[in-house]
Amino acid sequence: MRLSDPIESLKGIGEKTAALYHKAGVFSLWELLTYVPRAYLQYPDPVDIRDLKIGSTSAVCLTITGTPSLFHARSLSVLSVVAEDGTGKIKLTWFNMPYLKKNLVNGMKRVFFGRVEARGGVLTLEHPKMFKEEEYKELKEKRESIYPLVKGLTQANVRKAVATVLSEAGTIEDYLKPETKEALSLTDLDTAIRSIHSPSSDKELFAAKKRLAFDEFLVFILSVRKLKEKNEAAKARYRLIETAEAGRLIDSLPFALTKAQLKAYRDCIADMESEHAMMRLVQGDVGSGKTIVALLCLITAAANGCQGAMMAPTEVLAAQHLKKTTDLIKAAGLNIKTVLLTGSMSEKEKRITRELIASGEAQIIIGTHALIQEKVEYKALALVVTDEQHRFGVGQRESFAEKAEGHDGQVMSTGGTDRDELGVMSTNRSPHVLVMSATPIPRTLAIILYGDLDISLMDEKPEERLPIKNALVDIRYRAKAYEFIKKQVEEGSQGYIICPAIEASETMDLENVEDYSEKLRGIYGDTVRIGVLHGKMKSAEKEKVMGDFAAGNTDVLVSTTVVEVGVDVPNATVMLIEDAQRFGLAQLHQLRGRIGRGDKQSYCIFVDTSGDGEENKRLAILKNTNDGFKIASEDLKLRGPGDMFGIRQSGELGFKSADIYNDADMLEKASAYVATLTEDEAEGLLNGYAEKFMNERVTL
Ligand code: ADP
Ligand code: MG
Repeated sequence: MRLSDPIESLKGIGEKTAALYHKAGVFSLWELLTYVPRAYLQYPDPVDIRDLKIGSTSAVCLTITGTPSLFHARSLSVLSVVAEDGTGKIKLTWFNMPYLKKNLVNGMKRVFFGRVEARGGVLTLEHPKMFKEEEYKELKEKRESIYPLVKGLTQANVRKAVATVLSEAGTIEDYLKPETKEALSLTDLDTAIRSIHSPSSDKELFAAKKRLAFDEFLVFILSVRKLKEKNEAAKARYRLIETAEAGRLIDSLPFALTKAQLKAYRDCIADMESEHAMMRLVQGDVGSGKTIVALLCLITAAANGCQGAMMAPTEVLAAQHLKKTTDLIKAAGLNIKTVLLTGSMSEKEKRITRELIASGEAQIIIGTHALIQEKVEYKALALVVTDEQHRFGVGQRESFAEKAEGHDGQVMSTGGTDRDELGVMSTNRSPHVLVMSATPIPRTLAIILYGDLDISLMDEKPEERLPIKNALVDIRYRAKAYEFIKKQVEEGSQGYIICPAIEASETMDLENVEDYSEKLRGIYGDTVRIGVLHGKMKSAEKEKVMGDFAAGNTDVLVSTTVVEVGVDVPNATVMLIEDAQRFGLAQLHQLRGRIGRGDKQSYCIFVDTSGDGEENKRLAILKNTNDGFKIASEDLKLRGPGDMFGIRQSGELGFKSADIYNDADMLEKASAYVATLTEDEAEGLLNGYAEKFMNERVTL
């Protein structure tokens, strides 16, 4: 068995199950082994009945003292029996498990593990699992891995697959030398992999997590280093000079650019005027005004007689960028042709657009991943901008640059002009690349993570912005909130209401966009015009809804998180987020970034629906600050560096198990280690890893 073998090479995993694993991002056996549990279930010590807490999930050692009763109510069957332990009595209840009845013998002593409730005043253990005392003792020593799943995949299936690979693979050979591990105090790879799936202590688990984080960062940094070498060698396909057109656009804006925006723009111009291809990251918190910097660069490309492309993560955002860009260009009295290319356009529309791009008529091209996926030939592509693509891994970064270079079957090839200007077209000639991100990463870490990019930090927001006022409330506040939103609307503002789900579900009790918008229509009648938006809608529908909202034709947009990134409607001043405790802090911060984008006071209302009566500490962080960096660091403090199961904020950066905040020590360690390697050693290490664990499909 080779760990680079595909997952379907495992016995018992057929095409269907394999497809589920693929959905979970697991294609190879190695990816299965590095499919890290999201939590570990450890059974607690049994407690006395008198010490049980309502609402807790507890273990109790009980003797059954009654005869089980079974009754049916509609489609439900309820099995219950009474048990005691010398400190009290408790009722045990199971739903729809009538077959358990024969196992419940009067006088039998067992450990029961389940949720403690008080049903009609009767202390009840619901749906308890039942164990012999010995069995429970053994179980308590171990931890049960809980894997992140996709629909259709079960814990049992993953556990079994992992166990099979671990037993058949033998000792996993380490690609790091023993002296390296020693010097860096890292656990051995085989130990780490085995511990991560069934740790026998917190200490062991911690060491395993750190080792896997180190590996993930190491491979990432090695790849970044390779990219950097390539970038440094990359000559610009076009040298672009500063143009009067960009200046005219700046003059026509209804506001003055911030110092940070001007600085970022100047950095870009300096890069694009040099003979090297620009590789620059503009990092700035939500609302800092990154788009305009990108637009100025795109205009520079166009005014130099070339083309500039901008890729956005969603169609909603791409459409918005197109609209704003065209409006601004028009307001500046410029004549620059801008087109949109997204996957959901009809074949005919796409063809027409591709022709405009190939002929050079289209000067600014805005789109989604379609810009990479569709076979697009550019006449003279000089600049590629990616907006809000923190989900942009090394592999993607590379493929975009490469495709733009025109390798891959001339997918993003250029026409003749570059040959006229720069002589023979060489694969080393790259377009300028500008990456824009709002992910708050401390500078030292950003330098490592974006080691292949130069960084412009936009640490300043437009002057007239008032800080968003935040409220953290429970559901009792809703009625007041609706009144408040109505008032905002009456004053000419707009608002968002965010729900985690699209429609009602039987298994999850989440606020959903469909029911919620109906409810609001009932409450507001004709006084507030409601729009509805979610990811399952057709693209054209989404665009219409978003367009209506942007144009002020609707007042309140009830939406899922599809508006999370980039959406810019400065007239929206209020946001209410339902089930706020269900979201990650980074995500909530992005969502909140949709308001506070104009000069009016904005308000964000976080509704904690947990009903536990306590202030949610994580949400309190958001209530107390609007600063992305501060949120990330406060969150880390709250979790503590030893917290291994916190919400992973760096998931969006494409790491599987490493967390850039929690594992910052490993990131620095890996970076320092790579710095000691010669080019050949670095290459050898990356190849060693690739040979053992990767197949041609698995990219980084
Ligand atoms: P982000 O950095 O989140 O991408 P945007 O570029 O979308 O932010 O800008 C947010 C809003 O601020 C937009 O409505 C934009 O027009 C406006 N804006 C940008 N720069 C300035 C500025 N210097 N002064 C005032 N408003 C600005
Ligand atoms: Mg943006």
